[in-house]
Amino acid sequence: MRIYDLIEKKKKRLALNKEEIAFFIDGIMSGKIKDYETTALLTAICLCGMTMEETFELTMQMAHSGDVMNYNTVKGIVVDKHSTGGVSDTTTLIVVPILASIGLKVAKMSGGSLGFTGGTADKLKVFSGYNLNLSEEEFLNTINRVGASIIAPNKNLAPADKILYELRHLTANVESIPLIASSIMSKKLASNADIIVLDVKFGSGAFMKTLKDATLLAKTMVEIGKRANKKVSAILTSMDEPLGSSIGNQLEVKNAIEVLNGKRNNLGLVSKRLVEEILFLSGYDVKQIKKAIDDAILSGNALLKLQEMVRAHGGDDLLISRMELMKKPKYKQEILSNQEGFVSSIQTAELGKIVALLGGAKQEKNGTVDNTVGIELFVHLGSKVSKGEKIATIYYNKKEEIEEIVKQFEKTIIIEKQKRNKQKLIRLVIR
Ligand code: URA
Repeated sequence: MRIYDLIEKKKKRLALNKEEIAFFIDGIMSGKIKDYETTALLTAICLCGMTMEETFELTMQMAHSGDVMNYNTVKGIVVDKHSTGGVSDTTTLIVVPILASIGLKVAKMSGGSLGFTGGTADKLKVFSGYNLNLSEEEFLNTINRVGASIIAPNKNLAPADKILYELRHLTANVESIPLIASSIMSKKLASNADIIVLDVKFGSGAFMKTLKDATLLAKTMVEIGKRANKKVSAILTSMDEPLGSSIGNQLEVKNAIEVLNGKRNNLGLVSKRLVEEILFLSGYDVKQIKKAIDDAILSGNALLKLQEMVRAHGGDDLLISRMELMKKPKYKQEILSNQEGFVSSIQTAELGKIVALLGGAKQEKNGTVDNTVGIELFVHLGSKVSKGEKIATIYYNKKEEIEEIVKQFEKTIIIEKQKRNKQKLIRLVIR
């Protein structure tokens, strides 16, 4: 078999068979297939697409290109959730403790920020001392003891995805539904939870800009999961505005704690919907689901579970009950509206990029993250604002850049005279 022929075949829009896909993944893992050949095939896939059968085979080969987690020693149903990435999307820090307090076992591996989107691994570092690098044995013990553990991917999970992801990123081959679906699902299948719920984002702050593309991605991922004998479903949620009221790691952690303390908002709505879906797939009595979630929050058990998990990882859990002890940024700048009207659109990805510029996300491979910086928003889509009203506060540490940052921020909140119809936050569930 020659990679040359596979590239030719894909360019003719013909489907690659199981043996050809296995040859491709073996070849990139052994180094026999060179980066330029891989890139040519990726470009052909991007342009010509893949059938469901091909996408599934590719995902399975990638999932088995390294280690696959084994939860035989964990007592109970092991569940996992995944977001395709958004801005101010802190649902993991809410969903995980609620589920663990209800009695499920949550095994979660989370990365840092990607592009303009935040990452749970960065947010957990707000709890100084939090160890994201538990050994496999410690990870499994923590899941058994506490009910949940969130770590950085420490095993060699789906290494073929690392190779493909980097090449796609460098050669403008990211935006392809079969490639995105296989990338995400290969890692989920290698992480190997029994139940996987996907939060597929669409809108101005998501990788998928339209509901149509997000639906196709969600359907593809759910089908891959089913073919791999997992219980999996996806919910489609809007990312046309930041999900929480703030962007920036520490501010977002505060948003999550507020929801666990009973605050009701969009972040809470999406988090609870994800929990509902996981409980549904776990066979929970449908009539009991909403009550179980409300009880977990109102009793304070979910918040205590977050504290317990943070403590089990060596993190400073006192910050959860005493948020005022969190580190403070040096400066803050209030932003006032220069006109009156209604907020008609929010450039959500741009807000994520501004927080990265403030230092809130890694700008280079070994860069640092400033958890104290960020933006607190006081308006939502559809909010009525008057001239001079405070619409945001920017928290920062580097004085010299603030003028430029404010200019960029001002372009992100669009105010118009007419109120536009608001779109629904949670659109579809795909099972
Ligand atoms: N997240 C992933 O893990 N892979 C992609 O291709 C896109 C988003």
